[in-house]
Amino acid sequence: MTQNLDRLNALPLRDDLRGKAPYGAPQLDVAVALNTNENTHPVPADVHTAIVEEVTAAAWTLNRYPDREFTALREELAAYLGHGLGAENLWAANGSNEILQQILQAFGGPGRSLLTFVPTYSMYPLLAAGTHTGFVAGERSADFGLTAESAAEQVRRHRPDVVFLCSPNNPTGTALDEDVVTAVYEAGEPHRAVVVVDEAYAEFSHGGTGTALSLLAGRPRLIVSRTMSKAFALAGARLGYFAAAPEVADAIRLVRLPYHLSAVTQATALAALRHSEALLANVEDIKRQRDRIVEELRRLGLAPAASDSNFVFFGGMPDSRAMWQALLEDGVLVRDVGIPGHLRVTAGTEEETTAFLTSMERIVSAG
Ligand code: PMP
Repeated sequence: MTQNLDRLNALPLRDDLRGKAPYGAPQLDVAVALNTNENTHPVPADVHTAIVEEVTAAAWTLNRYPDREFTALREELAAYLGHGLGAENLWAANGSNEILQQILQAFGGPGRSLLTFVPTYSMYPLLAAGTHTGFVAGERSADFGLTAESAAEQVRRHRPDVVFLCSPNNPTGTALDEDVVTAVYEAGEPHRAVVVVDEAYAEFSHGGTGTALSLLAGRPRLIVSRTMSKAFALAGARLGYFAAAPEVADAIRLVRLPYHLSAVTQATALAALRHSEALLANVEDIKRQRDRIVEELRRLGLAPAASDSNFVFFGGMPDSRAMWQALLEDGVLVRDVGIPGHLRVTAGTEEETTAFLTSMERIVSAG
């Protein structure tokens, strides 16, 4: 590795990328991997069959470039979201990471800035760096919450060009109240800030209500970002998307690579969307496991945060690093998000959740 690093440093790399570490959630070979907020339920058999059929048909077209406008996919995504949205409001890319990158390419860039409220999704600063967008780490309260007053005040103070609001927030798990989104949007009015609500985990919120989609009408600078990686159990297919005013999609058309969504990706996502009911049935089970984790960790004397997502952020450990290591020794991989005294665990299947809770109980009672 050191030799590689020396060779990397010898390359004419951009100065601002020198010494940077790539995104690197560990991909370890463990029995119970609950560290990257995937949907650990396998793809249901009938959905698998539908995907194979759709991809088989697409394979005959691979000599040609795919539909650059992925029209059928935008129509299906709009139908899934509802809220009166049409294909013209939708855009898709290779995961919501690419969605967020494209937004920064179009609305951020040199001399511009992105404001977000930490702790939040660890890719935001990396996406800012990669697009030469200044990164402003806004503050949350001591319990990691964010009020409308505080968020709006920070927008007025920093005058960012783009604001990322993560709701439900990764890694803390809680959704934002609607009034935070509207207050941030209004505070960004004088300098025309673009406000992105990253709703990667929206389908897991309590009652399924936590979404800014209903706020889109009449707000041309508001973007709601979603993904098929979580609720749809499709992390491997790489399909993220957003809903916004049609002119926002036109802005992104200026920076996207031609034919960025492969025919195979489009076929996979279409088949999955046509079976959304079967896929989303697992969401209810994941929510049950999530609530079970919160309840059981409380019983063990730990301090789990309330969660609207498919993961639980918890504190109350004297040594979170030792806890992470002890769990790994039991074959359970969770995420150390770099916040002292805290860990994050993804709600898995019932069996995986039981394995995690059994291991936690053993470690806690061993002292
Ligand atoms: N936003 C948030 C808040 C996330 O946690 C993640 C994935 N961990 C993403 C976006 C990106 O997901 P994907 O690129 O798979 O859509």
